[in-house]
Amino acid sequence: MKIASVRTHLLEHRLDVAFESASMRFDRRAHILVEIECDDGTVGWGECLGPARPNAAVVQAYSNWLIGENPLETEKIWAKLYNALRDQGQRGLTVTALSGIDMALWDIKGKHFNAPISILLGGRFRESIKAYATGSFKRDGVDRVEDNATDVARYRAEGFHATKIKIGFGVEEDLRVIRAVRETAGPDMRLMIDANHGYDAVEAIRLGNAAAQYGIDWFEEPVVPEQLAAYREVRAKQPIPVAGGETWHTRWGMREPIETRAIDIVQPDLAGVGGFTEAKRVADLAALHGIRVVPHVWGTAIHIAAALQFMAAMVPSPVRVNPIDPILEFDRTHNPFRQAIVKTPIEHKGGVVQIPNGPGLGIEIDRDALKEFRMPDDKGAA
Ligand SMILES: [Mg+2]
Repeated sequence: MKIASVRTHLLEHRLDVAFESASMRFDRRAHILVEIECDDGTVGWGECLGPARPNAAVVQAYSNWLIGENPLETEKIWAKLYNALRDQGQRGLTVTALSGIDMALWDIKGKHFNAPISILLGGRFRESIKAYATGSFKRDGVDRVEDNATDVARYRAEGFHATKIKIGFGVEEDLRVIRAVRETAGPDMRLMIDANHGYDAVEAIRLGNAAAQYGIDWFEEPVVPEQLAAYREVRAKQPIPVAGGETWHTRWGMREPIETRAIDIVQPDLAGVGGFTEAKRVADLAALHGIRVVPHVWGTAIHIAAALQFMAAMVPSPVRVNPIDPILEFDRTHNPFRQAIVKTPIEHKGGVVQIPNGPGLGIEIDRDALKEFRMPDDKGAA
């Protein structure tokens, strides 16, 4: 069995209403999928976190080292590709592109052995998982306090037991939003806040101390990911558990935040940290140090399916009181192709998502949807 071709698919949808986190503005949804085909006709799918075109360029570069390889040798291929761009790589696009490739190879491996990836990772500890609703960005032209409260009321009505809102737009305004959201959510719904590194340590500590009374499960990305001393300061000087990790890549990127306890919860992203191969190592490292793991998820059904396979195989925490063991990040912002690209959408029922049990990622791609949402000038060849 040999890898015969590597293709990328760039998808795009222009949004009618733009939205923002503290660090990024979204006026369109754009994602990149990776398709790897083998000489026996087996096809695997992956997805890369981050900008579509630059990721596609790196996937294209890697494809030169992939053609002719045995796709089942995921560890060997990971090392080969990582080493190929190591001197100028180590993190960022070289790793996000590698993540999409690794994901597709595990999909192939699952299809080859007729088993879900979760079984290949060691077994399924669970068949379903509670999801938390991610939304409540800052939308153009609306009052943020009212808008976020409306969002959360909807999530609650849909049955979600937890939600995460975006902050990082100024301490006073953020506190007004958090207060309103907690009032709408009621006392039992879990509530998390994500600053997308919009604060410095001084503001994050002020916000954390003032927001703690509203019962917050975690404070995500309070400060920029490069400043681990600031992370540690935030963790030490305010009471809300600190989460982070969506921009730290590979075991080497995760080592210092985990070993120095800059965070309470690490959030590796399957499409960013280095795929299944690397996420497993990061989860093991976190477990070694008693750090909780909650994967970051942002993208299409492929990315969600990968997170589900990974989380199915996550060893349950030995600490019975851990309230977030495990929990799936479930993006509720507008993205018409998120589920359209698979024949069976991955949806929640009452805030719970079933984990697919078909081979590989357990999904089937709808190629008509890929055509419908194709980026206008995407040639599709990597
Ligand atoms: Mg985040």
